[in-house]
Amino acid sequence: MKHESEVLIIGGGVIGICSAYYLIKRGRKVVVVDKGEICSGSSYGNAGLVVPSHSVPLAAPGVLSKGLKWMFDSESPFYIKPRFDLELFKWLWKFRSACNERHVQKAMPFIRDLSFASLQLYEEFAAQNDLEFGFEKQGMLMVFKTEKGLKDGVEEAYLMQEIGLEVKILNPAEIQELEPNIRINAIGGVFYPQDAHLIPARFVRELARHIETEGADIHTNTEVLGFETSNRKLTTVKTTRGDFVADEVVLASGSWSPGIAKDLQIKLPIQPAKGYSVTVERPEKCPVRPLVLADAKVAVTPMGETLRFAGTLEMAGLDLSINKRRVNAILKAVPQYLPDIRPENQQLIEIWRGLRPCTPDGLPFLGRLSTYDNLTIAAGHAMIGLSLGPITGKLVSQVVGHEKPEIDLTMLKVERFG
Ligand SMILES: Cc1cc2nc3c(=O)[nH]c(=O)nc-3n(C[C@H](O)[C@H](O)[C@H](O)COP(=O)(O)OP(=O)(O)OC[C@H]3O[C@@H](n4cnc5c(N)ncnc54)[C@H](O)[C@@H]3O)c2cc1C
Repeated sequence: MKHESEVLIIGGGVIGICSAYYLIKRGRKVVVVDKGEICSGSSYGNAGLVVPSHSVPLAAPGVLSKGLKWMFDSESPFYIKPRFDLELFKWLWKFRSACNERHVQKAMPFIRDLSFASLQLYEEFAAQNDLEFGFEKQGMLMVFKTEKGLKDGVEEAYLMQEIGLEVKILNPAEIQELEPNIRINAIGGVFYPQDAHLIPARFVRELARHIETEGADIHTNTEVLGFETSNRKLTTVKTTRGDFVADEVVLASGSWSPGIAKDLQIKLPIQPAKGYSVTVERPEKCPVRPLVLADAKVAVTPMGETLRFAGTLEMAGLDLSINKRRVNAILKAVPQYLPDIRPENQQLIEIWRGLRPCTPDGLPFLGRLSTYDNLTIAAGHAMIGLSLGPITGKLVSQVVGHEKPEIDLTMLKVERFG
């Protein structure tokens, strides 16, 4: 028996589930398939930040040279595992071309608009009675220990200010005033009051539960293996649990999207970038808002009764093994900034790793292709997929519905790299 639906979504992460939500709101009959449980990919254990302040794309001047400098340091926050991988070389070449001022100037206001639109949708979700996901709008505080880090952080803050974000540059006394419950060792900081945070897995799973009550059909442990096509259309989606047919298909499988798209002769330049998080029981002395320990590139996010430390960006393909040295590097950084917190003395809840789906220019892919009439791609959100989840879902519902998207999607064209 074939499973039938109007729209089939491949991937039950934040992008797939938000897309399902807005499609259902438009009256579409939706099926979601995921090879694991709902929210078992990158959307599960991330830092939970909803951050208009992160409007500089990953591809920015200086990033690659820093990455190459760090390449042989297994504790560095950015690491490319040395290996022969043609797709990685091609990706790095495209990334190198995108690391320029012109791209950053063009991408920043665009990411800002997407981020604020998404933040507003999160506020709408949080106001809904049946959704509780620890959403708080307390801003985000970046703290610095080195002069060079502070200088770069302040420069970036002025860039954000120029595109309209609220920014406060703080000295150590002002940092302490903002976070009086906990000692912070820093020479300066930047506060972004418009940022927010939430508990990511709770959000995605609550929303999945909600859409099920609205009629969505969710199939977990159902892995997509390939497709049958005819006349520019995907006619059958073949999975480990049988065949699915749908009028429209949305590919929202994060870092796994290129492997799935390959069966359709579609090349998606997405490289997985592994990151880790360690969640512990909330310590007695705890910040009230997320902090970014900027020089160490570690995020510290209070999430209900827990505190999460997240960081590192390791390009090692789809490998999900846990490198203990990198986990330890995250934990080691914490007491250097927050002497009241010794992560190893807190009750451990979970060590986790996930794969950020990174495109060469730091912008996701969102839209249809020239080759198939009933396929929409929504993948490649890198470090800001949680932030952009709701607006991506809303835009997907507009693309699938053949409506004019409320935000111009030219910069997100799937075929922009040829
Ligand atoms: C350490 C870390 C910290 C981060 N912090 C933040 C943050 O603070 N804020 C932020 O905005 N972003 C953050 N991110 C990035 C964010 O987590 C991702 O951008 C986002 O989760 C991507 O969502 P997604 O739905 O595209 O992918 P995923 O959540 O990975 O979902 C893809 C889904 O597709 C499924 N799938 C894969 N292959 C198949 C198949 N063949 N068949 C069926 N299903 C399949 C997978 O099982 C998975 O559930 C962080 C990431 C990491 C690693």
